[in-house]
Amino acid sequence: MSTSEVLSAPLVLEYPFRRTVGVVQGAFLTGLRDGKVLGIRTTDGRVLCPPVEYDPATGDELTELVEVGTGGVVTTWSWEPEPRAHQPLDRPFAWALIRLDGADTTMLHAVDAGSPEAMATGMRVRVRWADERSGSITDIACFEPESADTDPTPPAPPEHPTDEPVKLIETPARLEYRFTAGQATTRFLHGITEKRILGERCGVCGKVYVPPRGSCPTDGVATSEQVELPARGIVTTFCVVNLQFYGQAMEVPYVCATVLLDGADIGLFGLVQEIPFDQVRMGMRVEAVWVDDEELGPTMTNIKWWKPTGEPDAPYESFREHV
Ligand SMILES: [Zn+2]
Repeated sequence: MSTSEVLSAPLVLEYPFRRTVGVVQGAFLTGLRDGKVLGIRTTDGRVLCPPVEYDPATGDELTELVEVGTGGVVTTWSWEPEPRAHQPLDRPFAWALIRLDGADTTMLHAVDAGSPEAMATGMRVRVRWADERSGSITDIACFEPESADTDPTPPAPPEHPTDEPVKLIETPARLEYRFTAGQATTRFLHGITEKRILGERCGVCGKVYVPPRGSCPTDGVATSEQVELPARGIVTTFCVVNLQFYGQAMEVPYVCATVLLDGADIGLFGLVQEIPFDQVRMGMRVEAVWVDDEELGPTMTNIKWWKPTGEPDAPYESFREHV
């Protein structure tokens, strides 16, 4: 591959997430599990569905949950011709705002109408329940036109191990996209493949950025002068990670740090190892520990971590502008 070709690669950003839902949304989700839809009444008598903890108009705290209908009216919609993975239906459907009977606000959900010609603002729809319900918005599989030839009765509630209200939901987030590095970062990534760290200097302020983004954020000019930096520097700031989390490769506790390379004006983020976590300090001099040569690629993970060099610590005044 030509070294002038801009690097581009698929990138997946994914993290699992469990969140507490609070009393009001917990009641809503528990209701779905039981085959009913709950809204919440405001002090002026409106019913908000899905329910919220505070009235968005007045800020009043809301507590009066009320059951609304499982049928309602489409107030607006758009057609989804090519559903993506994990969307409510695997065939074309409508995204619609639906005002359930007895509610004054609308809920976003999918309508399984078959074709856009079967959709209309003002049409009546009803809930199609999921066969198995667990206390999630997906307990409503979708909505369907009220004219649909299906049985609208919810399936019997599943046999719950407990009658506990829903308190937690899993909301995994996943983004799949293609990352194009741009010319400056491509130059940096080609360098790092050869264990060379290439920054770029701003012609106006003289600052050296690494990894370079191709321009100086202060002066708004392109950085064109390449500067090769040593794989050594100082820890300017750091934190000790004590929390274990999904996908984590390191054993806790471990240290994440910002490392300011000698000659650079912006820090690199990395791990600090080969020293007890409680002996890491600001100003400590470190050097890169690289992966084996056969593992080198266009990625920052070429640097496994940073380790102390044993040199005297840098005085705070020498890096205070970079903290
Ligand atoms: Zn500048």
